[in-house]
Amino acid sequence: MYAAIEAGGTKFVCAYGTSPQDIHISEAIPTTSPKETIARVAAFFSGRKLKRAGIACFGPLQIAKGRIAPLTPKLEWRGFKIQAAIEKVLGCPAILDTDVNGAALGEHLWGAAQNSKHFAYVTVGTGIGGAAMINGHLVHGLLHPEVGHMRVRRFAGDAFEGNCPVHGDCLEGLAAGPAMAARWNVEQSEQLPDSHFAWAMEAHYLGQMAVNLTCAYSPEILILGGGISLRPGMISMVQQSAKQEMNDYAPLPKIVRARLGARAGVIGALALARRLTR
Ligand SMILES: [Zn+2]
Repeated sequence: MYAAIEAGGTKFVCAYGTSPQDIHISEAIPTTSPKETIARVAAFFSGRKLKRAGIACFGPLQIAKGRIAPLTPKLEWRGFKIQAAIEKVLGCPAILDTDVNGAALGEHLWGAAQNSKHFAYVTVGTGIGGAAMINGHLVHGLLHPEVGHMRVRRFAGDAFEGNCPVHGDCLEGLAAGPAMAARWNVEQSEQLPDSHFAWAMEAHYLGQMAVNLTCAYSPEILILGGGISLRPGMISMVQQSAKQEMNDYAPLPKIVRARLGARAGVIGALALARRLTR
């Protein structure tokens, strides 16, 4: 049996089992202090015989050091060695990766990329995060991909300054849910009706992202997850926008919706635990 830990910025969700069809999921555990949160995680798994644990964690991470990067805005978690802490309380080896890398691996094992070893995965919601698998391995590199912070060309006439606290008008600062809400003066992007121009502009930004990922990685599939991907027509609008931007220069991946849905985090953690190598 495997342990899966979705370590989110606001909540942890734990599970044990062997596959998405055979999994027992915990109630949400609020992300408070590391000490308190890890104690509740330990209590959930208490008495279970576990082979390995996967931790799909909020970032940024220093994966090689098994810890959360010192620059995370979550002060109490800065530099926290989450991998060692989980190994200690669960008594089994643990694999640490980002939540988006976990979700991408989950899509590869059980979702929209089961037949592909070269694909990209991007979730667009309150933030934008992405992952790429090349030759069956997730890209890690110096840190891990930060797809949400790529630079994009501004939509003509878009006067919104962007709300990424680090870059202002990077992709996330222009196209994540909070950016849409701020630009169009609504509380949440979900309130914008399907007919609103906001969605065409959103597709423009995500189309540029699709082209940038294609130019860098040449993926066979681009999987879109997160709340914004669920908007009716969004996938085909992004595909159209990418086609225009690419101008027939290189083949574009098929853009598809993520299949793991709301359980992407915890299923991603299970995928990390299941696969020996990332
Ligand atoms: Zn940014």
